[in-house]
Amino acid sequence: MTTMRKIVLLGATGSIGENTLKVLDGHRDKAQLVGIAARSRWRELSEIARKYSVKNVAIFEESAAKEAESSGAFPAGTRFYTGESGLCELAELPEANLVVTAVVGTLGLRPTLAAIRSRKDVAVASKEILVLAGRFVMNAVREYGVKILPVDSEHNAIFQCIGTEPQRHLDRIILTASGGIFRDSSLEEMSRARPADALKNPNWAMGPKVTVDSSTMANKGLELIEATWLFGLPQEKIDIVVHPQSIIHSMVKFTDGSVLAHLAPPSMTFPIQNCIFYPHRFAGVVPSLDFSQTLSLEFRAPNYEKYKCLRLARECARAGGIAPAIFNAANEIAVDAFLRERVPYLAIPEIIEKTLAAFPLREPSSLEDVLAVDAGARLTASGLI
Ligand code: MG
Repeated sequence: MTTMRKIVLLGATGSIGENTLKVLDGHRDKAQLVGIAARSRWRELSEIARKYSVKNVAIFEESAAKEAESSGAFPAGTRFYTGESGLCELAELPEANLVVTAVVGTLGLRPTLAAIRSRKDVAVASKEILVLAGRFVMNAVREYGVKILPVDSEHNAIFQCIGTEPQRHLDRIILTASGGIFRDSSLEEMSRARPADALKNPNWAMGPKVTVDSSTMANKGLELIEATWLFGLPQEKIDIVVHPQSIIHSMVKFTDGSVLAHLAPPSMTFPIQNCIFYPHRFAGVVPSLDFSQTLSLEFRAPNYEKYKCLRLARECARAGGIAPAIFNAANEIAVDAFLRERVPYLAIPEIIEKTLAAFPLREPSSLEDVLAVDAGARLTASGLI
């Protein structure tokens, strides 16, 4: 590789951040962290800053940033940034050539656009970026001639399967889904689910929000919306298939009927490493699949009656405009209410559906407009609880 990857990692203390560091640990000679950011967890950031000699540190919350700056826990000469503008400045660092966006929620939107506009490649992990602002982000990617690299395991799998095939060879995308913890439960059993039941995920270790999203398949719905933007296919050309083992991370069907699949153990280090070093390949940092062991792969169609969130997401992908942003906002509010035991499990899709019905469909005019819709939908959904 001719050029060293110089990385800004937005969301260094989360699980994507952790896995990114794991990849870097295996390849310290080929990639360097030049900036790190977190919402407020500055103690963890200080450990990362010391271990990787990072000079630029952004902490979104101002009070936490102040504490960090006066703590003496960071290396001498550390430059501190705060607020959304601080995250944007970090994303524009002249020495960086790749920005990994893994901050939770809509916070990653403006910094990602800032990175693109300063002609850096972006590796996108935060779903909100494409779900809310797909059109703006993809337009900017084309305008500034940068690469958008998908970190999510499914999208990265599709990205790898497509390789250098021209768009016209692409027939369908087959997104795989674990089916979540209620894969084998009836709708009746799901109606009695408590937070503790929904928080078990057999295949992936994730935060509570994402684990619940996996159980309702709302996450797959969001991934469907993201895939329409990333790969330029309409939602009806994207199939979803339940694959309980989570070994095939997604597949692509070409116009000649050939299907390519991407297989790897369920570790985020595989897609992250692909994003960091694309188009180069180096040794992996965790063991790959062992085919001398018995390995069975099952597939089944998702039940759209049971996974109502998935049906709603498909409708939003078809409708376009502000619908995906409303879906995302209402889902977040509903899941939060469920986790605090304020609404039953099956109220999650109901809240999403009612929130969607409260907003006339239209195209967003700007990023500010989308963020206003996001805020409005949160208010409406909260009012329904
Ligand atoms: Mg995923």
